Amino acid sequence: MNANLACASLEKNWIEGVVKKDEITRYLIDGKDFINDEKIWDRIIGNENPDPGRIRDIIRKSLTVETLDPDETAALLNVQDEDLWREIFEAAGEVKRRVYDNRIVTFAPLYFGNLCVNDCLYCAFRKDNGTEVRKRLSLDQVREETKAMISMGHKRLMLDCGEHPGTDADYIADVLRTIYETKIGRGEIRRININVASMSIEKLRMLNEVGIGTYQVFQETYHHKTYRDVHPNPEAPKSNYGWRLYSQHRAMDAGIDDVGIGVLFGLYDWRFEVMGLLYHALNLEEQFGVGPHTISIPRLQPAEGTPFIGSTGYRVCDDDFKKLVAIIRLSVPYTGLILTARESAQLRREVIPLGITQADAGTRIGIGAYGERYDEQEAKRQQFLLGDPRGLDEFIRELAERGYITSFCTAGYRCGRTGEHIMQLLKCGQEGRFCKLNAVLTFREWLDDFASEQTKQAGERIIQKELDEISREMPSVYPKLTEYYKRIEDGERDLFF
Ligand code: SAM
Ligand code: SF4
Repeated sequence: MNANLACASLEKNWIEGVVKKDEITRYLIDGKDFINDEKIWDRIIGNENPDPGRIRDIIRKSLTVETLDPDETAALLNVQDEDLWREIFEAAGEVKRRVYDNRIVTFAPLYFGNLCVNDCLYCAFRKDNGTEVRKRLSLDQVREETKAMISMGHKRLMLDCGEHPGTDADYIADVLRTIYETKIGRGEIRRININVASMSIEKLRMLNEVGIGTYQVFQETYHHKTYRDVHPNPEAPKSNYGWRLYSQHRAMDAGIDDVGIGVLFGLYDWRFEVMGLLYHALNLEEQFGVGPHTISIPRLQPAEGTPFIGSTGYRVCDDDFKKLVAIIRLSVPYTGLILTARESAQLRREVIPLGITQADAGTRIGIGAYGERYDEQEAKRQQFLLGDPRGLDEFIRELAERGYITSFCTAGYRCGRTGEHIMQLLKCGQEGRFCKLNAVLTFREWLDDFASEQTKQAGERIIQKELDEISREMPSVYPKLTEYYKRIEDGERDLFF
């Protein structure tokens, strides 16, 4: 057998072993998954023309940080009145403040491989895209990328890659270890979330042992037929809807408490997808007592060598995008909501106040793109085109000028405040206490180590305001906070509550 054939046959064997049927069926109820397409449409249609009084009752329920039921979310999806929309937008911002105050957590993605066995029609990494220059970073290259990211001031990473035997769980584990080991001076990456393929419980358990923050998988679309249409190769693991849908269930069973869900908006009707996200959150709550740690809302972007975007009839306009963000915020009030740099700077400015809790910045999505040798040709290793290319310093300065404190806190999973525990704390407003303190400490560190003069000035104003609030509202912890704060000013790092 020649080398190419041997390679193809190894890949085929690997692909055949990915999906474990019994790790889908164990979660089904009466042989069915929890997304009933017809029922979702019935609910959307059945809640048309909602009474304004009912909408205001639903808003009041969200403000008590309670998850909405599907009929309530469906009613919000049917609001037409502009005044009611204004009330919804305001309430979404208020819910976010009640749970997460004025904090925004930042992170940056690290793409370490674009090899992929799948053929998702919308993605530049798809196997059939001949224009894509394929690459997997070696562990030395991962180290270099990590150093470049640490020098930019990043503390939290989101690891991304295609699905391929060359970037399987074992390699991901090596990448995780390499990143955690890499330090420059006082800089280091303290939390790594991963956005990688759906995996078996065994592989997820192994990754959990190495240490991950959130395991994030997007369903892309909850609509069964559309899912089949955009993942047309039946041999590819990702074409299996059920395998994808229960990724987070398997993660929970593997001991990973923090899971993220998401939809790629633009593949199917956005109202249906919002209902899908809600059903997913409710099912996780029902089966594991804890909902998703985060919800992501990527919107379909143009991608090199990938004409799909021109053929979908479901692209989401900016106005609808704002509506869906606000409705998700009201429907699942305790969950983190992630807005990525796929969107333009201007749109991010408008959407963040509607309930966003996390945003990436200083983002590069080419493979090896943080290193110095990245050039135009390397742009062909990108998964899609980026909308907000601003650097971390500029992004953080703008947030500070608008009253937000950037949090680099990574304490949660290192002190066991994850999963059900963190959800309980969030629901009763207690997690906010830890977060507020840790946001101040980590922001102090970041301003001292990385900020430009201009950003430092904007940041100092926010920190002073936070310190004043803490001294008034949490007098019992204030002395400890000021002690930590002083030690950080004197050069100590990584002190947290
Ligand atoms: N390959 C893994 C997977 O599919 O789950 C990892 C995720 S991929 C690196 C991250 C996400 O990017 C995908 O889940 C998809 O939602 C999103 N994505 C793919 N193509 C996109 C495009 N053209 N525009 C915006 N987002 C896209
Ligand atoms: Fe591969 Fe993920 Fe892109 Fe699909 S979305 S082609 S699985 S990288």
